[in-house]
Amino acid sequence: MQPLSCLRCRREIEAGDKSVAVYMFAQTVGVKPRQKSTAQRICFCPQCAVSLAMGMPPEGALNMAAWQMIRDLVSAEPSLNQAAWESLRGVAALLTSGTETSANAGWRVTSRRAG
Ligand SMILES: [Zn+2]
Repeated sequence: MQPLSCLRCRREIEAGDKSVAVYMFAQTVGVKPRQKSTAQRICFCPQCAVSLAMGMPPEGALNMAAWQMIRDLVSAEPSLNQAAWESLRGVAALLTSGTETSANAGWRVTSRRAG
């Protein structure tokens, strides 16, 4: 499977990472035979999802529809905000040592073994 990245900031999103996925497909109406396109998946990292939701409405009908859906999620409960806050703080990287990237490694607080 192709690695996913955040549509806004291009940050890579791995399986199991906290993110928002927007699924989109097109379907014919009133036309026979009824046709349905394949579904596209668009991903946003928590920071971008929260940032988009809190920001100004975007231009364009499709962007507007996606913006409203993301706003629904972000405003419903604070878990996505919490996820965005955690990555901003680098707390997630500290807690999951071993899976961190070299980019995150610079942010690590080195711990000294006592004794
Ligand atoms: Zn992003």
